[in-house]
Amino acid sequence: MRPYILAESNWKAIKDQEVELAVLPWGATEAHNYHLPYATDNYEGTAIAEEAGRLAWENNAKVMVLPTIPFGVNTGQTDIKLDINLHPSTQAAILNDIIEVLDRQNIHKLLILNSHGGNNFKPLVRELGVKYPDMFISFCNWFQSVDRGDFFEHADGDHADEMETSLVMYLQPQLVRPLDEAGEGKSKQYRIKALRENWAWAERKWSEVTEDTGVGNPKKATAEKGKAYFEAVTQKVSQLFVDLAEADLDNLYE
Ligand SMILES: [Zn+2]
Repeated sequence: MRPYILAESNWKAIKDQEVELAVLPWGATEAHNYHLPYATDNYEGTAIAEEAGRLAWENNAKVMVLPTIPFGVNTGQTDIKLDINLHPSTQAAILNDIIEVLDRQNIHKLLILNSHGGNNFKPLVRELGVKYPDMFISFCNWFQSVDRGDFFEHADGDHADEMETSLVMYLQPQLVRPLDEAGEGKSKQYRIKALRENWAWAERKWSEVTEDTGVGNPKKATAEKGKAYFEAVTQKVSQLFVDLAEADLDNLYE
């Protein structure tokens, strides 16, 4: 049993255990091209949280990794079979209830470890921060923590691409179909210039943007690349765990 993973721990250990920082991995259940499993984001987020938790724990950080929330916001994929959508208001309600428990039990630091691009926690964190003024609520997107270009040839994708394929080949190789069965992950752009330039935003209808549900070419993925990237990401994320666990909430700025 790993004492920093709530799902593995028990009341005997937990009741006297000091917890400075709760970590909540948040994923999604959605199609990932033809070759990766629907729970790709959950496998990634869980593995990164657990390994970063181990590294932080060994650095004396009092962290506790909560179970991964397996459903995320998939509002652009209503016609893709069995993509399970949580509306943002539902996500806010779930997050509220978890924070209510932490706040009541004097665990005042929470990091949401986001594993899915459709989850947007900023407005939720703003609102819940007003409601729970003693809480320090933060989130990170692990997929933005290190530069993909240092690890992958096709680094411009964002869904079931070379990065995600390499990670799952490393973490859950038995769940990856042979890469010759994978689609190319080609995606279309908006005709509207400002939307292409990313300073304006509108939901993309996923089924019209991509043929195989992927965005980004997965063909050059390898487990070795996945391992190197996983190690870099977990190092960086574990430092965030340590910094948050050690932070003095009355003295955050310099
Ligand atoms: Zn994904």
